[in-house]
Amino acid sequence: MIVDYHMHTPLCRHAVGEPEAYARRAIELGIEENRFSDHSPMPVSYDPDWRMTSGEYPPNIEMVRRCQKAFPQLSIKLGLEADYHPGTEDFVKGVIRRTPSTT
Ligand SMILES: [Zn+2]
Repeated sequence: MIVDYHMHTPLCRHAVGEPEAYARRAIELGIEENRFSDHSPMPVSYDPDWRMTSGEYPPNIEMVRRCQKAFPQLSIKLGLEADYHPGTEDFVKGVIRRTPSTT
């Protein structure tokens, strides 16, 4: 199976293009499964220029859901690129708990 599991939405602040553009390109290239894995929200003092805020996480999930509905012929997963940084474990656990259990 050909997959691409490292894609971001513009909410991560270092990618351009809407998820639908990535899905269209995946289909053109014969990729069978995409996973959007934006960098996890973190406490505001940690690397804010490279990740979505906590408040942007629900819209991030909605962007991926919208893309899944628009491209039923492509397997599109919701992921999260969660970082380990000492002292932020409880914050990251909270974010992961807010992540829907369905793909
Ligand atoms: Zn990245």
